Amino acid sequence: MLVKVVKFGGSSLADAAQFQKVAAIIKADPERRYVVPSAPGKRFREDTKVTDMLYACYERAARGAEFDGLFAQVRERYDGIIRELGMDYSLDREFAHIQSAFVNKSGRDYAASRGEYLNGKILAAYLGYDFIDAARVVFFNDDGSFNDELTHQSLRDELSRHERAVIPGFYGSMPNDTIKTFSRGGSDVTGSLVARAAGAVLYENWTDVSGFLVADPRIVPNPKQIKRITYRELRELSYMGATVLHEDAIFPVRQAGIPINIKNTNVPSDPGTMIVPESGEGDDAQTITGIAGKKGFSILHIEKDMMNQEIGFGLKVLEVLEEREISFEHLPSGIDTMSIVVATEALEGQREELLRWIKRRTKADLVELHDGIALIAVVGRGMLKAVGTAARAFSALAGAGINIRMIDQGSSELNIIAGIDEDHFEDAIRSIYKEFIGE
Ligand code: ASP
Repeated sequence: MLVKVVKFGGSSLADAAQFQKVAAIIKADPERRYVVPSAPGKRFREDTKVTDMLYACYERAARGAEFDGLFAQVRERYDGIIRELGMDYSLDREFAHIQSAFVNKSGRDYAASRGEYLNGKILAAYLGYDFIDAARVVFFNDDGSFNDELTHQSLRDELSRHERAVIPGFYGSMPNDTIKTFSRGGSDVTGSLVARAAGAVLYENWTDVSGFLVADPRIVPNPKQIKRITYRELRELSYMGATVLHEDAIFPVRQAGIPINIKNTNVPSDPGTMIVPESGEGDDAQTITGIAGKKGFSILHIEKDMMNQEIGFGLKVLEVLEEREISFEHLPSGIDTMSIVVATEALEGQREELLRWIKRRTKADLVELHDGIALIAVVGRGMLKAVGTAARAFSALAGAGINIRMIDQGSSELNIIAGIDEDHFEDAIRSIYKEFIGE
């Protein structure tokens, strides 16, 4: 039988009503055999995620302070779910064990991981699926890096012994048997690892939005949904801050050529967004897949007569950046000018020094910094086929009276990046959206 791996985010498992939706989704398709849950998330806007409650609780325990009150609140989140689902199930023993582990300072990661562990226990019992503790199948090395090979093998072996199972997200174990977590939002990564190990045909990532939107809805009212996006396009858009999925979740499934479907637990009939390895046959891609952007950049502008003939000029500049641990984002150049886009944050406390060193090292005529730059990325695999995309994007900006400070188009022809003044950020996104997608 084919396998689909389904991962449910925290808001999809925040309370008993959400558990019921999740169970209905899983039972609706017998191919949904492996389930990766997050910890219970927010039930309403001002609510606190269980993971955050656990961090706070452990922080007190580690200081030797009293943590019973907070611990009881965590416990009530789970007991409430069990009660409202009408299950004959108890986590009493688990809680007793976890409480004494907190007293014995079992570690911050251990504490946080219990959110997924306990949710996985309840979900497995509720579905009648086996429970596989992620500590036995997801591994980290001594230095804290992820052990991909060992994880892949162990997961594959273990899954082959279970027809249907729940594997909690977010954590694994270290060689000394202590628990370690991925970074926040890491259940996405676990889901991706399970999908690869199971040889899944699809990795469904269930959340509380119906996939990706062409632009940020806080800027463009009611933007269209992205139906299909390639892994490469997604990477370009997430770099600009369009996040629904943990960045590291892409690599395992991408490697194995498994598509990811972002779906909405609250509107399961919505097709969501399909993230695919390649655009594929009969792809009816629009010219533009998405528009994203970020504020907070600076342009380091350098001028020197005859720069273009000076071998190694760029190297000298980049060496200064490297010595000062400043990574650069873009490097568009003219004949006797060079502009380097960097995050303004990275310059903190070293602006004057940086300018002085570049001047000294390169003997440039002029070195200056311009702050308040926003970058806008217009991303689309359809650009390859459409002539004049850049012209359309730039004339949309010109039409809105927006001055372009920098342009960069990678040779992949997947992405056009424009640097503009931050004050025009929202207008720029709206005008490009209007040009390509409409009102
Ligand atoms: N529960 C963890 C967090 O809040 C991991 C996850 O939800 O993916 O970050």
